[in-house]
Amino acid sequence: MALIVQKYGGSSVADAEKIKNVARRIAATKEKGNQVVVVVSAMGDTTDDLIKLAYQISSQPDARELDALVSTGELVSSTLLAMALEAIGCEAISLSGAQAGIRTDNAYRQARIVKVDSKRVAKELKAGNVVIVAGFQGITKDMDVTTLGRGASDLSAVALAGSLGAKVCERYTDVAGIYTADPRIVPDAIPLAEISYEEMLELATYGSKAVQPRAIELAELLGVPIRVASSFLNSPGTLIHGGESMEIRNKVRSIAHDLDVAKITVVGVPDRPGIAAALFEPLAKANISVDTIVQNTSINNITDLTFTVAKSQLEKAMTVVEPIAKSIGARECLSDSKLGKVSVIGTGMQNTPGYAARMFRVLSDKRINIQLISTSEIRITCIIEESQVVDAVRALHRAFELDTE
Ligand code: ASP
Ligand code: MG
Repeated sequence: MALIVQKYGGSSVADAEKIKNVARRIAATKEKGNQVVVVVSAMGDTTDDLIKLAYQISSQPDARELDALVSTGELVSSTLLAMALEAIGCEAISLSGAQAGIRTDNAYRQARIVKVDSKRVAKELKAGNVVIVAGFQGITKDMDVTTLGRGASDLSAVALAGSLGAKVCERYTDVAGIYTADPRIVPDAIPLAEISYEEMLELATYGSKAVQPRAIELAELLGVPIRVASSFLNSPGTLIHGGESMEIRNKVRSIAHDLDVAKITVVGVPDRPGIAAALFEPLAKANISVDTIVQNTSINNITDLTFTVAKSQLEKAMTVVEPIAKSIGARECLSDSKLGKVSVIGTGMQNTPGYAARMFRVLSDKRINIQLISTSEIRITCIIEESQVVDAVRALHRAFELDTE
């Protein structure tokens, strides 16, 4: 008998039929003799709809009230799923994040889990129940409801799996696993049997929406393997883990892309200590997350500073940066909101020369201009024009032979 944590995303519980389908899968897992804890997201687009509703009421909804409001999405899906299980003769109980012992700090909308007290969950498992936990939410020590950031039901699931010592955290959505590229744009992309935590973290951060990045970090920290699979199919999906059995380590694993990139260039910046801090501290304070940053070598003590942000944050970032640029004597601020990112990812690239050159050659042959480049030990990212991203992903997928197993 194993203890398994399963997590079902919003698309898997989007309507009554889908909830019944999920219930049948859970019941089948239990019938095999497993103990099952299930974490659910809110049905379909419920979270977005609730946030929209709040903003129709107030342009600045109170963060505490907003968290209490959006947390109801997961209460709806978890209670319905428990009913669906009972209806097919499988004993189940739903628990809110608070009841499941997910304790957090009080940073509303982005709360951090400080502790998981899984006593109640363990007690319900012992009593023979499937335990359905509302994802995405926790409770402060003052008993206020918090949420853990968008997409954070994944994080709830991993935290519970770690605390309960589960064998695996199975994560189900409408995609069959992690692919060598997004199968919607590369039809011959292949699902990967396995991927390492570090590769998955790069992939999730650089475009793939498959698993929330914080959940991957926590899974690595706690040593919880995550299996990503479809709730509509019976394929094994992809195992994200840290094990030694990783096949073909000298290969690129996947091509990631992201169409949500905007760029700001501060032109003619005096090159002296403190300038970068003067620019980026206010951006951080305004909660704008800055991605790739490039500073040119200065000529006559004058340089250019370029960085990228999400498109939705461009306007806000410009209102922060423009007055600062003026005050530090920069010449002007330029922006471009029609950019995208394409990344080549794989632990096999570590300490192996030639991957960057190959990537640049492929883009050059396609007449794609590279605007910015950033790298980690296992990733090379090029920022290019948005309209060329699909072409670039397809060409790279072919060039790195990801279409052949
Ligand atoms: N329902 C929440 C969201 O949409 C949490 C999740 O889906 O994981 O962000
Ligand atoms: Mg959701």
